[in-house]
Amino acid sequence: MKYGVNEHGYYGDFGGAYIPEMLYPNVEELRQQYINIINDEGFKAEFDDLLKNYVGRPSPLYHAKRYSEKYGANIFFKREDLNHTGSHKINNAIGQILLAKRLGKKRIIAETGAGQHGVATATVCALMGIECVVYMGEIDMARQAPNVSRMKMLGATVRPASSGSKTLKDATNEALRDWIGNPVDTHYIIGSVVGPYPYPDMVARFQSVISEETKKQLLEHTGNELPQYVLACVGGGSNAMGMFYHFLDDEQVKLVAIEAAGKGVDSGESAATTFLGQEGVLHGSRTILMQTPDGQVVEPYSISAGLDYPGIGPQHAHLYKINRAQYVSVTDDEAMKAGLLCSQMEGIIPAIESSHALAQLEKMKFDINDNVVICLSGRGDKDLDTYIKYFGY
Ligand SMILES: *Cc1c(COP(=O)(O)O)cnc(C)c1O
Repeated sequence: MKYGVNEHGYYGDFGGAYIPEMLYPNVEELRQQYINIINDEGFKAEFDDLLKNYVGRPSPLYHAKRYSEKYGANIFFKREDLNHTGSHKINNAIGQILLAKRLGKKRIIAETGAGQHGVATATVCALMGIECVVYMGEIDMARQAPNVSRMKMLGATVRPASSGSKTLKDATNEALRDWIGNPVDTHYIIGSVVGPYPYPDMVARFQSVISEETKKQLLEHTGNELPQYVLACVGGGSNAMGMFYHFLDDEQVKLVAIEAAGKGVDSGESAATTFLGQEGVLHGSRTILMQTPDGQVVEPYSISAGLDYPGIGPQHAHLYKINRAQYVSVTDDEAMKAGLLCSQMEGIIPAIESSHALAQLEKMKFDINDNVVICLSGRGDKDLDTYIKYFGY
């Protein structure tokens, strides 16, 4: 693949594995084995079976008729919100638990910010009867109490990270410390296309089922497997990479990635990484991240917990730099308005993350025959409190 990872783990200038020496054996084991395991016929059969019968795939490609009229193009929603556990994150969690089993691992660790990845990981560990420890910042545990309860109900242990800002990056540090201490029996499930190589490529492959299905479904709907536009929101970038993956080499397909502008890109409270960031190293890979002039990571902000991340995956940094995809941003207010519109025009309450992608439609000009696919990455149940508070119902 022209835009895929090279044999050194890089996408152009980005990627690699910037890890402490003590993590080297763990990451090296993964690097040597992941391609063979993922391409094994037995693995593929088990992965496909679980995606079908446990997750509920293929997720529908829904032709949104009222949206199509409003925006003057054929608008399609790729319905990842209908997956078991409510978002695309389960696709990756299933892939990694199957991989962990084949590596002979007996224990799973994960980090989580908003709790969505923690819930997906706790879910697949319950499914496989494997011990699960999820690290979560103390502040996030208080903010996302329902997801903490979910993880506990599913049998996972949730360990509070109480250092630093007590949020995602501290949870990530704790998880890495655990992994260094338990290299033989433990697999670390990372939740997005971030982290040291091979994680960004591995997670992208597991999520690529999204665009693989979309091509077939578009062909049925429109007679052509290629749309004019593909849109997806970007936190770390896994739903977007899954949605872009099989369209990357079709250069005529315009790819649009939507970041969270928070209260505005100039407000000091934002997560618009490509706009505000510079090149540097974050969570084990060279990428673009929000940082101070002396290289300290800047605390990001978005109303949407899933987009509240100071970096993007290295493949996104590459696609941005070479202009294969366009990176734009949408504010809290624009996203919330779009979430309400989708609820009332299509009867679908989207996750606030997905509402960011929907809001971008307002800013685009289409031809009447354009086919436009938007990744509806998750459902809005988890966000009802935030929506209700925002709109003052
Ligand atoms: C976690 C999450 C995101 C952001 O993560 P990506 O890796 O960028 O996809 C987006 N939407 C939903 C519903 C999420 O749960």
